[in-house]
Amino acid sequence: MMADQNEKILHRLLQIDGNNECTDCGAKCPEWASYNIGIFLCTRCCAVHRNMGAHISKVKHLKLDKWEDSQLERMIEVGNRVSKQKYEMRVPACYRRPRENDPQVLTEQWIRAKYERLEFCLNDRPAYTSGHMEGFLMKRGKEDSRYQLRKFILSEADDTLRYFVKEKREPKAILRISELNVVFAPAKIGNPNSLQLTFMKDGTTRHIYVYHDDPKEINNWYMAIRCAKLHRLQIAYPSASESDLVDYLTHDFAREGWLLKTGPRTTDSYKRRWFTLDDRKLMYHDDPLDANPKGEIFLGNHLDGYSVRIGAPVGAKDQGFSFTLFTPERTYNLSSHSEQDRDEWMTVIQKVLERPLSPQDSSISARLIRKRGGTNSINIFTGR
Ligand SMILES: [Zn+2]
Repeated sequence: MMADQNEKILHRLLQIDGNNECTDCGAKCPEWASYNIGIFLCTRCCAVHRNMGAHISKVKHLKLDKWEDSQLERMIEVGNRVSKQKYEMRVPACYRRPRENDPQVLTEQWIRAKYERLEFCLNDRPAYTSGHMEGFLMKRGKEDSRYQLRKFILSEADDTLRYFVKEKREPKAILRISELNVVFAPAKIGNPNSLQLTFMKDGTTRHIYVYHDDPKEINNWYMAIRCAKLHRLQIAYPSASESDLVDYLTHDFAREGWLLKTGPRTTDSYKRRWFTLDDRKLMYHDDPLDANPKGEIFLGNHLDGYSVRIGAPVGAKDQGFSFTLFTPERTYNLSSHSEQDRDEWMTVIQKVLERPLSPQDSSISARLIRKRGGTNSINIFTGR
């Protein structure tokens, strides 16, 4: 066939439902293909395929490379939909399938699990779905910021994730799986294979930072926590559908970054704080890798007196890109380093404020309010 004839065939194949997005991450308008597997890929996923080696995946650009007839026939014969029926036959429900802009380790391990390890074609369930996992992770010290090897044990039956400083001794900490959130944190930790574990301890949020040299290991820990959470939810809510429960396993932070923040008085000076928007909880920290936030602000519904507005409140100094967050308890005067950053913060906060409160949200609110009335020295509503 003529070269332009082949180009036409490829163009036509791309119109077929399923082929119009990357088979591995769903990105629109794939520009690459693996011609031995017979799938269409985005640029980023294609790079992972190339790294696996040509014995697993042979990649070509749809427009810039020359296509042989036999290669084209393979693309016609397979395509994304047929390929998924094989390579995604047994993806565990708890498994997080990566989307376009998801962390590299998640995308890469998904692709390697699919085509290199054939993890979802085999009858054996992956070990991380078993409800028990143990191993060593490098964990950041709470005080001294050095990473040390720590043993972690996940037990779905006990609803715990424990870690140990000395293996034969008592656990240093016991985390409830059902109250745990886990996110990939490559940029913050400075390691591509790293996780941030977040949970409530003594009425305040606690963050734990870990990494592992092996990307597969860190990905398995992430999935193991999700699997344990799913199984526990299935017991707690036997009539709920699996696909509904999957939405509650883990959630990425809606946004993180530096903002300037003043104290409660308009005369207070601005201090640079690392802000993290975790669902309805807006936390701020001295340092991105702090073990505890300095303050936590519950974001309720706009009908209950929560709002966000551009500019500084009357009498307060405007830092240039200021915005103000109003809660029934307090007004927060915040400032961003650019107009775009400010607008993006305001958009994500506004979205949370417009969302109705779920039963889970109300329980977070109740816990934070209980905390506020408590005797603990950390007042999370006013912060420090
Ligand atoms: Zn992709």
